[in-house]
Amino acid sequence: MTEKPKKQSYSSDFLLAAVLFVFLTGFFVYAVFVNPAFFVFLSLGLLIILLDLFFLRARLNVKQSEINLQIQNLEERRNLIEAEVQIEKKAIASFEKKIVNYARLKGLTERIGVCLSLEETSKTLSEEVNRLFGDHERTVILYLFHSKTGDLGISASHKGEMRVNLKSKKGDLFDQWVVKSMQPLLIEDTKSDYRFDTDKMPTEEFRPVRSLIGAPLVVGHKALGILRVDSPREGDLTTEDLRFLTTIGDLGAVAIENAQLYERLEQLAIKDSLTGLYLRRHLLERMPEEISRQLRQGGRLSFLMLDLDNFKQYNDKFGHTAGDIVLRTVGMLLADFFPQPGSLICRYGGEEFSVLLPDSSKQEARELAEQIRKKIAEQTIILRRERTRITVSIGVASCPEDAANPKELIHQADLALYGAKAEGRNRVCAA
Ligand code: GH3
Ligand code: MG
Ligand code: MG
Repeated sequence: MTEKPKKQSYSSDFLLAAVLFVFLTGFFVYAVFVNPAFFVFLSLGLLIILLDLFFLRARLNVKQSEINLQIQNLEERRNLIEAEVQIEKKAIASFEKKIVNYARLKGLTERIGVCLSLEETSKTLSEEVNRLFGDHERTVILYLFHSKTGDLGISASHKGEMRVNLKSKKGDLFDQWVVKSMQPLLIEDTKSDYRFDTDKMPTEEFRPVRSLIGAPLVVGHKALGILRVDSPREGDLTTEDLRFLTTIGDLGAVAIENAQLYERLEQLAIKDSLTGLYLRRHLLERMPEEISRQLRQGGRLSFLMLDLDNFKQYNDKFGHTAGDIVLRTVGMLLADFFPQPGSLICRYGGEEFSVLLPDSSKQEARELAEQIRKKIAEQTIILRRERTRITVSIGVASCPEDAANPKELIHQADLALYGAKAEGRNRVCAA
């Protein structure tokens, strides 16, 4: 609280001066007109007034410095309050940002929560990060480790609204650092960060990156990939940005792991564990759609049914485990021979295999069957240090000439296969 200035002390001084002034005016008149000796009293009175004014001035100076001090104190207090207001304002802004980020994270969790496949999950995750961090200059990249090769590779990359194709497919030295250390990384300026020597970067990988944030996608002790945002502007990305990206990375990693597990489960349900080929169930599910699509478009489709010749004898001679090696070898030869994505190779059951060939005429299928028959027959398989060989019989049937539905197509290929067995095995027969 500020003290009120004492007004009465000055007014008494002024009152004294006023009274003296009245008396002195009287004395002055009296001295001029009646008795000049009164000039003495007049001078005395003037002296008293001067003294009074002198003390008054001294006291005013003291008072003035007191007031200045009070003003200084008040200004200091005002500065303190202003600083507190600024801190509070910052806290409110940061709190508001946290609420917005929380809402964004909630939205992101909901969106990636409904994704099942790995492709869908990684697409949604990278799009969300791009929506939250991206602009026309920043690049957003999602790297994932390939489940089979174990290599780091770009799963998605965006620049503004566009998807971009980057030359550095396996990540640059910053990404390698994040993967190795499994720690988030913030670089405010690549040119002044002593940890990384950007001059050593291969020129083909060069992009004008000045600042970046990278968050590892980690579940347990396993790194699944990296989320990265980079910018050509120095100091464009902050600690706050990195913190937010890391939280997204934690959520994203769990979603990616779930998607990978789901995909593996799906594969287990449709693929044979011994050969890695599709199971018959999957073939029967896919066939109706494939056949009707081909028939609708006026196309053709062929089907091969393969059966190992005298496999029982093989098993009896070398044992069941050796028989499994033979089955796996034949499965591999088939997968290598029909690599095009359209063809569906199955372990139909036991020692029978099948291949569905969209867009293949009966003649083309027959030729392919002959080639793979030869290839299998020429393959040496070493069992119990003995060089052995296996042969197969193959039945071929096609749509639309032999059948118009899956059941009929399989049946016709089966009949052709029996024909091949009856004719002496190790041959191809067409329906
Ligand atoms: P064919 O030329 O007439 O086809 O004679 P085959 O001996 O191949 O025919 P068969 O149907 O009599 O015998 C098939 C054998 O395949 C019987 C079975 O023990 C064997 N088999 C089926 N599934 C497996 C498997 O998963 N592993 C192994 N090792 N053998 C299998
Ligand atoms: Mg058989
Ligand atoms: Mg057989």
